[in-house]
Amino acid sequence: MFNSIKLKIIVWCLVIFSLVFAGLEFILYYELENVAIGFIDDHLVSEVNLLSSILKVEESHGQLETELAELSASAKGEYAVKLSGHYYQIVSPRGKILSRSPSLGLADAHLPVLVPTEGQFNFATIQGPNNEPLRVISRAVDFSNERLVFVAADTLEGTFQLLKSFRRIVLIVYPVIFVLSAVGIFIITGWALVSLRFFSDKISHITEENLFERINEEKSPYELRPFASSFNTMLSRLEASFERRRHFLSDASHELRTPTTVIKSYCDVTLGKQRSAEAYREALEKVSKTVNRMKNIINRILVISRFDAGIMEYKPVRIDLKDILADVVTLVEPAALSMDVDISLHGPNINIHGDMEGVTEVFTNLVENAVKYNRAGGRVEIYTAAVEDYAEVTVKDTGIGMSAKDMKKIFERFYRADVSRGVTVGTGLGLSIVKSIIERHGGTIEVTSERGVGSTFKVTLPLDKKP
Ligand code: ADP
Repeated sequence: MFNSIKLKIIVWCLVIFSLVFAGLEFILYYELENVAIGFIDDHLVSEVNLLSSILKVEESHGQLETELAELSASAKGEYAVKLSGHYYQIVSPRGKILSRSPSLGLADAHLPVLVPTEGQFNFATIQGPNNEPLRVISRAVDFSNERLVFVAADTLEGTFQLLKSFRRIVLIVYPVIFVLSAVGIFIITGWALVSLRFFSDKISHITEENLFERINEEKSPYELRPFASSFNTMLSRLEASFERRRHFLSDASHELRTPTTVIKSYCDVTLGKQRSAEAYREALEKVSKTVNRMKNIINRILVISRFDAGIMEYKPVRIDLKDILADVVTLVEPAALSMDVDISLHGPNINIHGDMEGVTEVFTNLVENAVKYNRAGGRVEIYTAAVEDYAEVTVKDTGIGMSAKDMKKIFERFYRADVSRGVTVGTGLGLSIVKSIIERHGGTIEVTSERGVGSTFKVTLPLDKKP
């Protein structure tokens, strides 16, 4: 449940949405407060400027004292209503109130004086005489005899009401948008994930019988195309692997059927009539030879199956390459002598890191082939060399060689070049086993050959670096 992609997308989207929404609301609220208070400040500045300019004019007429005394009597509108929230007062430097709006006077209240420097405005937000929030501005103006401080104030109740309404709207709108977004994201993610369900349906329908099916990459959503492509590649690999297995099984049965048929016909012919002991012995010898051939095929099939199942034994140790090659030569020598083929071993002694049994199998196969596909009076030369981190072993023969087409296929299972069929005994499995063993060691095998001239197999295997 908590490991759901859908849930993760929804939670992340809502967290991001909430943060963006909260940030936006904070900025809007701050801006709104600034604009509203700025508006009041502008109004208060013009009020103070108006008052001071009226008194300046009266001073020029020598009427400053009279005007100060009569100023409050001429106040109109909100300034005339007791504790209306709109006030002004004019104060002497010693703090004596020279004039104040009736809105203050009728309640015998006064405003605090913020002592400003000459010409500058001082702003503050305070609690008013009616306990209302007040925006207050003070300004000192110099007259010829004295400095007067003008103070004006306006209630902030309207502004605070506006901000409160804004907060209330946000508190109502936020949960609504939050729920709508959650539903929207839920629907969109569900819709986007439908394609994944299509993939999983497709995967669950794939069996050995319909491995050829593919997902249409062009028609898949853009983001899922890499997934479709990897899935199709995996299907192709599986299909190829199943195909190889099918081939292997049918080739193996085919290869085993021939000796079985041979044994059956030897038996049928021999048992067809009464024969001499010598004839029975001859027939049994032929059957025994054919059974040996079958055993050879079955052993190799077993080795290949172990490789395919990944259970082939691999115990790497330090191997003296020259020792192994000498043993192989000794093993193959009788066959070479009977074919009049000369085997020689050249090059330095080299230590490699590998599985003793596997490495012996590799070189036995290669040297046996070099003898088997040779001609009377021919040669097999084995060379060793160390090149960088690898040991290089070359098995060169002067035998029948092979065509370029054969060279590409000889490492495939059950492949035998036409010229070798019937000429020598073989299963067509040796080189495929050789290749698997070499690759298991992290090495390589290459072949170069010319029909009628001979073949050269070059093997590389990792050196044992320990001193
Ligand atoms: P096989 O049991 O037939 O020898 P391999 O897998 O060892 O099976 O070899 C596959 C085929 O490669 C052989 O049938 C033969 O046609 C060809 N081949 C292998 N080694 C040589 C060689 N030294 N010279 C010529 N042909 C070779």
